[in-house]
Amino acid sequence: MIPYGRQDITQADIDAVVAVLKSDYLTQGPATPRFEDAVASYCGAPHSVAVNSATSALHIACLALELGPGDLLWTSPNSFVASANCALYCGAQVDFVDIDPKTYNMDVEALKEKLYVAERTGTVPKVLVPVHFAGQSCDMSEIRGLAQRYGFAIIEDASHAIGGRYRDEPIGSCRYSDVTVFSFHPVKIVTAGEGGVALCRDPQLAERMRRFRSHGITRDPAAFQQCAGGAWYYEQQDLGFNYRMTDIQAALGYSQMARLDQFVTRRNQLASAYDLALDHLPLTLPWCGPKCLSSFHLYVVQINESASGVTRDQVFHNLREAGVGVNVHYIPIHTQPYYRRLGFDLGICPQAERYATQALTIPLFPEMTAEQQETVTSRLGDALS
Ligand SMILES: *Cc1c(COP(=O)(O)O)cnc(C)c1O
Repeated sequence: MIPYGRQDITQADIDAVVAVLKSDYLTQGPATPRFEDAVASYCGAPHSVAVNSATSALHIACLALELGPGDLLWTSPNSFVASANCALYCGAQVDFVDIDPKTYNMDVEALKEKLYVAERTGTVPKVLVPVHFAGQSCDMSEIRGLAQRYGFAIIEDASHAIGGRYRDEPIGSCRYSDVTVFSFHPVKIVTAGEGGVALCRDPQLAERMRRFRSHGITRDPAAFQQCAGGAWYYEQQDLGFNYRMTDIQAALGYSQMARLDQFVTRRNQLASAYDLALDHLPLTLPWCGPKCLSSFHLYVVQINESASGVTRDQVFHNLREAGVGVNVHYIPIHTQPYYRRLGFDLGICPQAERYATQALTIPLFPEMTAEQQETVTSRLGDALS
C-alpha cells in the first residue's frame, strides 16, 4: 500500500535520539529548549513551549487565554476533532464557522456574518481557532482585523502548516494571532514521534502555558505567592497537567527541523506534478491563494459525481483495492456522534458537509518516488473512467 503520508527518518535522526538515550536526561533536559528555540527562530516568534502533542498545546493555549465555563470557542468543522475538543476540556462551549469552498479553510465572509449576529445575541467567542488546512494559511490579516473589532483571541491551529508562509512570513510568526500551534505527529511535516509546540509573542502567556504543561507548578522564586522555603521549594499555582515533551522526542524534532525547507520544497514539487498529471481528469484540484505558500501536508482532490459518473466512495474503494492509501480529511467535526449528542445538527455547515462527501486525500510524502506518483495518477484515472 502506498500510504497517504509517511515520516522521513535519516541516520542523523536516529543518531540524535540514541545520543539522548546515552545522556543524563531522558525528559525535558537540554534537548527540549534546543528544539523550542529552533522552532521559534525558524518562525520568528520569541516564545516557544514544547509539549507532548498539538492537542495538549491547544489545551494549554486555551487555559492560558483563560477560556472557561460560560465562554465560547469557534473553529472550523473541516479539521481534526482536537481543534474543537480543546474548548470542551476547559468547560467552554464550541461552535463552528463554515468553510470557503475554494481553500477549504474557515470562510472569512461566514465568520463576519456569524460575528455580526453574535454581537447582537451576546455570543461572541472568547477564542477563535482558525485551522490552516492542508498547509495553506487562512486569511489571517482579515481575521486579525475582526479579532480587534470584536475582541476575541486567536489560536492558529497550524498542525498541518509548519514551513508554510503567509504574506512573505513564516506561519508561526504570531503576527496575526496570540498563539500558533504545531503538531509533530509522524504524518505531519516534521515529526518528533509525538509532540506539539505553542508559539507566542507575549512572555506572560508563554509563562502560563509553561506552568500548565507541568502541573501548574513554578520553581521561579520571583513568581512565588507564598514565603519560599529552601532550595527544594516549589509552588503549584494552577491545576496543570503533565504534558511535557521528552528529550528523546525533542532530539528527533530538532534533527528533523534542519530538513524542514527540503520537506516543503519536495512536497510542493510533488503537488505541482500532481497538478499537471491530473489536470485532464474530472476533478477539482487544490487551489492556492497568491499570499500563501502551502506546506502541502495534504493533497486533496474533489470528485464531482455529475462530471465523472462515479462517487467519491467508489473511487476511494477502487484505489484502496489497487494499493493506493487514500484517505478523507475531514469528516466535519459537528457530525461526529459525540458532537451530535451535544446538539449540533446536520446542515449547519453546508459547505463543509458537501466537501466531505467529495474530498479524497491522495498520497504525498517527501520520499514518494516518481514511480509511486505515476501509480497513483494512473489508478485514479482508471477509477474515474
Ligand atoms: C494532527 C492534528 C491535531 C492534533 O495533533 P496531535 O499532535 O496528534 O495532538 C490537531 N489539529 C489538526 C488540524 C491536526 O491535523
